[in-house]
Amino acid sequence: MVTREDIEAAAARIDGMIRRTPMKPSPSLSGLAGGPVWLKCEHHQETGAFKLRGASNAAARLGKVAGVTTASTGNHGRALAHAARQLGLPAVICVSRLVPQNKLDAIDALGAEARVIGASQDEAFEEARRLEREEGFALVPPFDHPDVIAGQGTLGLESLSQLPDAAALAIPLSGGGLLAGVAAAAKALRPDIRIVGISMERGAAMAASLAAGHPVEVEELETLADSLGGGIGLDNRLTFAMCRDLMDDLILLTEAEIASGLRHLARKDGEVVEGAAAVGAGAILAGKLRAENGPLVLLLSGGNIDPARHAAILGEET
Ligand SMILES: *Cc1c(COP(=O)(O)O)cnc(C)c1O
Repeated sequence: MVTREDIEAAAARIDGMIRRTPMKPSPSLSGLAGGPVWLKCEHHQETGAFKLRGASNAAARLGKVAGVTTASTGNHGRALAHAARQLGLPAVICVSRLVPQNKLDAIDALGAEARVIGASQDEAFEEARRLEREEGFALVPPFDHPDVIAGQGTLGLESLSQLPDAAALAIPLSGGGLLAGVAAAAKALRPDIRIVGISMERGAAMAASLAAGHPVEVEELETLADSLGGGIGLDNRLTFAMCRDLMDDLILLTEAEIASGLRHLARKDGEVVEGAAAVGAGAILAGKLRAENGPLVLLLSGGNIDPARHAAILGEET
């Protein structure tokens, strides 16, 4: 497991490699949720998502390696490419065919190789394993690694330093590195805080695994929340158990609910986020998430969405 001490050490290690991102109130969502709602604007992080925290912490702890590699739906790969460049290491990022072109372009722009392999996150991960086995690369996985989880946990420390009386944190959930780290940090500081995970209905691997009582595979489907796609790994070591033990509620959203969250954040709060980051707002609008017991923080986890796609969603009516 990952401890508060690990997360505090990560915060000290990556200070200077990442930005402290803004926390701001959302008057419109507060009205709908029956209590104060705050937006933790992590989509303003360097590389556009919280993943830079975990990737920077993990990369900064490596010894001598030929380079770094990973499999990623996009944001982790981009983050690792950025961290590798800062450390002067080559990076090969293995991605599945579902990953949007804008995310591949962003990896190229950071001087890393984006290698498109297979139809699923799991197949891309096999290629990263091969590079580790045969070519001396260090594999930095997207979520199931203690240094990655500790790095993501710094977002929990930072959020509570900005809003110490937060009663609940709403956290986009895929492989669970973000939720595990943030929940470990937040519950260490404030044992009574509620941790709410939110995934899409289409292909939610952690939700299916928790229901089964062990990691299971789900079919990977296209979703507006593309950063929430992918499996948790049948050999999951850390995030399954941490999510099971630390998460209080799990909410699933339809594609239409995610889209309305994205539209609301753009129109009412002036924040351009990707689908994965819109789930908190979507859950409030759908009547699935309330803020009656005190301040509710929505983690806006990333903003890497193709501008044309964002505009098209804004143009749709519900
Ligand atoms: C990776 C990612 C998530 C989910 O994080 P996990 O650690 O896999 O649960 C949520 N939002 C965005 C924008 C992401 O890139």
